[in-house]
Amino acid sequence: MDIQSIVVAYQGVKAAKEIAGGIINLKIETEVNLKINEILGMLNKAVDDIFAARETMLALQDENSVLKTQLADAKSWEGELAKLKLYKTPADGVVYRAATPFEHFICPRCVSDRKQIHPLQSTGPYAGTGVCPSCSASYSLSVPKKINTMPSRGGTDF
Ligand SMILES: [Zn+2]
Repeated sequence: MDIQSIVVAYQGVKAAKEIAGGIINLKIETEVNLKINEILGMLNKAVDDIFAARETMLALQDENSVLKTQLADAKSWEGELAKLKLYKTPADGVVYRAATPFEHFICPRCVSDRKQIHPLQSTGPYAGTGVCPSCSASYSLSVPKKINTMPSRGGTDF
């Protein structure tokens, strides 16, 4: 059943009510009038039922529209998520890695908690840390390079 069939059903019941109402105005027996009133009562209930069905159908159409939008969003997110791979960094940090348009790392907290993709930003050439610009979480991406202040000794100790 759709809205058009509800409209058609309503028009049919309305026409039947008009006919029954016209008959009741004729000079006829009281017993017949009682029966016609009974029919009118049933037709009034049918109209109420049709309106209730219409309201239910409109609510279901709204719900259907919302669910379709949610499904499209979920499919879109699944597509984005499929482009990411979990990656354990050399410094034992766990982040998402994306390969396109170039290799970069993604904040796992934003992916799992907020369904958002934010590339981690390096904090500097020696830090070995990536920071999320959205939630500020930091992840160890590489073992920090040591700045050697002692001169290196070549050869072996004697
Ligand atoms: Zn984040």
